[in-house]
Amino acid sequence: MTDRIIPIVDGRSARPIPAARPRPAGPLRDALGRGLRDLRISVTDRCNFRCTYCMPKDVFGPDYPFLPRGEVLTFEEIVRLARVFKGHGIEKVRLTGGEPLLRRNLERLVEMLAGLGGLDLTLTTNGSLLARKARALADAGLNRVTVSLDALDDPTFKAMNDVDFPVAKVLEGIAAAAEAGLAPVKINMVVKRGVNEHAVLPMARHFRGTGHIVRFIEFMDVGSSNGWRMDDVVPSAEILRTIAAEAPLVPAEPSHVGEVAERWRYADGSGEIGVISSVTRAFCRGCNRARISTEGRLYTCLFADSGYDLRALVRGGAGDAEISEAIARIWSVRADRYSEIRTAETARQRKVEMSYIGG
Ligand code: SAM
Ligand code: SF4
Ligand code: SF4
Repeated sequence: MTDRIIPIVDGRSARPIPAARPRPAGPLRDALGRGLRDLRISVTDRCNFRCTYCMPKDVFGPDYPFLPRGEVLTFEEIVRLARVFKGHGIEKVRLTGGEPLLRRNLERLVEMLAGLGGLDLTLTTNGSLLARKARALADAGLNRVTVSLDALDDPTFKAMNDVDFPVAKVLEGIAAAAEAGLAPVKINMVVKRGVNEHAVLPMARHFRGTGHIVRFIEFMDVGSSNGWRMDDVVPSAEILRTIAAEAPLVPAEPSHVGEVAERWRYADGSGEIGVISSVTRAFCRGCNRARISTEGRLYTCLFADSGYDLRALVRGGAGDAEISEAIARIWSVRADRYSEIRTAETARQRKVEMSYIGG
């Protein structure tokens, strides 16, 4: 037998569900007074891209221990959890991953979630399979889509996705989504110093006037494998200055409480952009997002080192009331504010990978 090096899988250990303690009446609040509004569900930990900032090839290689099928939440389990979360006031569900469109029949899950009623249903995708899937997703009840695209020129984009995937196919996916009624499309661009900062202006120019909204994201120290350094972060203030030098911008109001992107409009009315400044202007104070990993762990922060095992409850025969109570206990002790207290030291600590927990 040959020795194989299996990479360390970080952040998948489970935390015990907190003990019961008195809670104030009314909507659920965490230890810092934040509500629970937004649920992100990772439907697969696999991806057909190897973005260097997320799933670098040297870690996520052929031997990487992705979850076996039996460990992954079924659609029925996902919908059950979403229903219980809805009972706690969740208004929005975002499907993510890994690459969510790799999960077979995802439109069926969308349809089942839409059946819960009253939820804003969204999806974050790398766009590679979107041209094929957009219509079925929209018909199933998806409300909107966010597509990740890090440059408009093939050499830069291919260097970042690291699987030679061309820009044109992602643009086709964006067009198909718009045609299917999933507009305006949000486009996420992670900006990394010296890698794609030159692509910021072309990206802003390309989507200005289309109704779609580009959101420039600061490169974050998620997970433990992307070799993050503060020097690689392009502060969003710099991105805004670059764009505003060409097309003046005016600030826009957040569209809802806890919105992660700071919104800006072109002064001439030709559209909107956003910046997500997780590193330079942390927004933990309004963070109302919970995340369910592919195998059913609840993470109360993107930078957590472990999650709470909801799947054990679901598969162990717990009733909805018991699961709901567990979620309430977990949320009421939540005190995460990683981005506000980030240091070079915390950035080096082991954390859960974004492809597993979802973006
Ligand atoms: N595969 C889908 C995609 O790429 O859109 C969904 C999952 S991906 C983990 C969700 C989002 O996280 C993407 O927009 C991606 O660009 C962003 N992301 C991943 N790693 C990041 C990092 N280190 N810093 C900032 N954003 C990151
Ligand atoms: Fe895949 Fe999305 Fe991560 Fe890129 S950012 S490797 S597309 S999960
Ligand atoms: Fe929310 Fe954690 Fe991000 Fe702060 S660091 S905004 S608590 S996910």
